[in-house]
Amino acid sequence: MKYVYSFSKERAEGDRGMKELLGGKGANLAEMASLGMPVPPGFTCSTKACDAYYTLGKSKLFAAMKPEIESALKRLEKATGKTFGKGPNPLLLSVRSGAAVSMPGMMDTVLNLGLTPTTIKALTKSSGNERFVLDSYRRFIQMFGNVVMGVDHHEFEHELAAVKKARRAKLDTDLDVAGLNDVIERYLKVIKKKTGKDFPTNPMAQLMDGIDAVFRSWNNPRANKYRELNDIRGLLGTAVNVQTMVFGNSGENSATGVAFTRDPSTGEHKYFYGEYLINAQGEDVVAGIRTPQQITLKGSREWAKSQGISEKDRKADYPSLEEVMPKAFKELDRIRVKLEKHYKDMQDLEFTIENGELFILQTRNGKRTAQAAVKIATDLVKEKVITEKQAVLSVDPGALDQLLHPVFVKASEEKAKQIAVGLPASPGAATGQVVFTADDAEAWAAQGKKVILCRTETSPEDIGGMHAADGVLTSRGGMTSHAAVVARQMGTCCVAGVGDVEINYKTKRFTCSGVTIKEGDWISLNGSKGVVYKGEVETVEPSLTGPFGTIMKLADKYRKLGVRTNADTPQDTATAVRYGAEGIGLCRTEHMFFEGDRILSLRRLILVAETIKRLREEHGIEDLAALQKAVSKDKKAVDAIKQYKQAFRELLPLQRKDFVGIFKALKGRPATIRMFDPPLHEFLPHDAAGQKEMAETMGVRPADIKKLVEALHEFNPMLGHRGCRLGITYPDITEMQTRAICEAAASVKGSKPEIMIPLIGNVKELVNQKAVVERTIADVEAKKGVKLDILIGTMIEVPRAALTADEIAKEAEFFSFGTNDLTQMGCGFSRDDAGKFLKDYVAMGIYEKDPFQVLDQAGVGKLVEMATVNGRKARKGLKVGICGEHGGEPSSVEFCHRTGLDYVSCSPFRVPIARLAAAQAAIRR
Ligand code: PEP
Ligand code: MG
Repeated sequence: MKYVYSFSKERAEGDRGMKELLGGKGANLAEMASLGMPVPPGFTCSTKACDAYYTLGKSKLFAAMKPEIESALKRLEKATGKTFGKGPNPLLLSVRSGAAVSMPGMMDTVLNLGLTPTTIKALTKSSGNERFVLDSYRRFIQMFGNVVMGVDHHEFEHELAAVKKARRAKLDTDLDVAGLNDVIERYLKVIKKKTGKDFPTNPMAQLMDGIDAVFRSWNNPRANKYRELNDIRGLLGTAVNVQTMVFGNSGENSATGVAFTRDPSTGEHKYFYGEYLINAQGEDVVAGIRTPQQITLKGSREWAKSQGISEKDRKADYPSLEEVMPKAFKELDRIRVKLEKHYKDMQDLEFTIENGELFILQTRNGKRTAQAAVKIATDLVKEKVITEKQAVLSVDPGALDQLLHPVFVKASEEKAKQIAVGLPASPGAATGQVVFTADDAEAWAAQGKKVILCRTETSPEDIGGMHAADGVLTSRGGMTSHAAVVARQMGTCCVAGVGDVEINYKTKRFTCSGVTIKEGDWISLNGSKGVVYKGEVETVEPSLTGPFGTIMKLADKYRKLGVRTNADTPQDTATAVRYGAEGIGLCRTEHMFFEGDRILSLRRLILVAETIKRLREEHGIEDLAALQKAVSKDKKAVDAIKQYKQAFRELLPLQRKDFVGIFKALKGRPATIRMFDPPLHEFLPHDAAGQKEMAETMGVRPADIKKLVEALHEFNPMLGHRGCRLGITYPDITEMQTRAICEAAASVKGSKPEIMIPLIGNVKELVNQKAVVERTIADVEAKKGVKLDILIGTMIEVPRAALTADEIAKEAEFFSFGTNDLTQMGCGFSRDDAGKFLKDYVAMGIYEKDPFQVLDQAGVGKLVEMATVNGRKARKGLKVGICGEHGGEPSSVEFCHRTGLDYVSCSPFRVPIARLAAAQAAIRR
């Protein structure tokens, strides 16, 4: 087994196609080296090595891998003319993680490895810059001490701050040789005190320990949490990139920085977007300790303007790279163009300038907001770099959600009191209550509160809280600080580096511009402008035009699947239509009964429903008027019938009105309307107080209500008296609903209702309900003198229905897969209770994903496939859709495309996601 792969200008053993094996960083370093880019040479220990580290164990792996490392080191010494751990020109190394999927900041890195008393002496002599060597050494001790030897960061920071204070140094760069010697001495003492060991001086041992630590960091809690949150699975592990150190901290003619070929927040392409620091190493830029400077002059001027910094001060204190190191800048700009063309995508690069010479340390497809993703995709099509299909494939459907989030109402924002300005780190708008710890953010959000997480800066430990928060504010750090990078990716609004904000974690408050904000106070963030407001600011739905609209149009051009929505109100319907829904795939009519006083009418009906059923059976009379005559001497019976009829009289016009509103909002698009579905007990109060109140309203005794609730109580996970079973027992419900639909359709021109019978398991159930529906349609047609064109179909959500789809299709004009119930009954998981253990099931890999969120293609999917094929055999052209939660989930949408469904139906906000996912499925096949 080969574990180690070298890369240098002369020879690269990998390329960009080998991400799985070499990790993203390693594969791209090899690719760039082959392209002749200025990449410091090095080698990559593969992800297979990481896998072996965990399966074979460290000692077995290291025994096998060490000889490979030794020969790679020899090659490296040859390529660089330097020697590792000895000689007049010592080779120093960086040791960095890099998995196949990038996990920024989650795993460990060690820089400046190979420094020992021997090499320090040699390097001081060869560089003629003692300060630089000592600065590198103190960084090395700090990183190695933390990552490899497990000493807390804080221990080192404490010593560094003490020395800076004693020597009146404002920045790290203000420390001179004596100061740095002081720091190093203290660091070495810390190591000894905390670990009982001396800092290692054997370079090979340093290297193997560094590699060991990176492999170990693959499984640290924050990396695991990151993979869980981002749904990253199936990877072997991380690769380790061992690379020749180049030094951005070797003086005023050196620098380090990160850059995006386009703006990762907006996708704008106005200038080369990036930040750098003079005389610094990589971690300084992201750590947010010093304020990074802009790469281009244009960007620098725009930044200064946003910060209220004069041109004079900008030039003196924060000049651009373009001004300070024009030659290196030009070279970097040339590489930017070359890389973007080569990778056909926006790139995120890391670079270092050592004594005026530029080196590229990393390139990857840059992480971006959804707003930037659609802008970049449409721009690259315009620039003829990629095709329309590639543009559609380049946008993550799940990320579109970010674009559908609200933005501030302009007038409300104008009135709001602005208290600070920071960097527009992640766009959007957020309003919420202030909290100061990630744990509080998670706890408050769990209580349904909207929160803004305020931190001086964030660290990977905070990602849970950042996820839960509506917005993130930091008082330190730049556009590439941890907070900014992570928030952008999550789609969480973020304003970073708000220098005026002074946070006091102890008192849980911050002050800024003379205003004090306490925990629980409301503030608002405009993440697109970087502005902080006091109080709540009203939000609105975002605009759906521009690049987003263009991508959606392209998606519609290539997709074959129809996309409908699950909506029960005219408002939701209108929203979904704006998002591109082509109709309603599921209108859950029972939701209409929860509103206002409607539940009272329904409760009145439920109260006497059983009595009516009994009377009908006793007298053998179906018709209510005839029945009433027959029982005219029995006052109780007459009253019950009256109440029953009254309830329907109340409900009919309300339902009709709902349908009219929905048909109007649909403007001629079809609507699949499902008959009443849930068990009746869901509409009754289960607590004593509620039962007492209902009894008073209904004019009966509380004991009667209690008895009713007990009679309707079911021990089942939604498998009882619900769905078509209700309509079969109480056909009046089906009749009333059908009548409301027909009357509404007759009054709104162009309406296209489709009546759907739920929970069919046996074709005879469908035959029964269809008869009621057809009879009622005919009655309305006769009374209104109209001809209605209404399809009658069924949900396929009981496994028996899927198994007998051929029989059912003879009676049904369409199928709609209710994959929520089909998953419940197919997997045998109660929809209401499975949450308790499904998480563990997913963690253990028994199910790869929660089958209620992501369709279980191997199991439930088989039922869908079979029913579709058999249904269409029995009825040519049978229309087939899906309306379970899976209809808006990208991988399930792809399955529906493959299976030949006609449409998917999902909640309004997921309609654009489904449109894009459907297009991607069509293009991929
Ligand atoms: C389903 O079961 O998938 C469905 C859409 O119906 P409901 O969720 O209302 O049971
Ligand atoms: Mg269902």
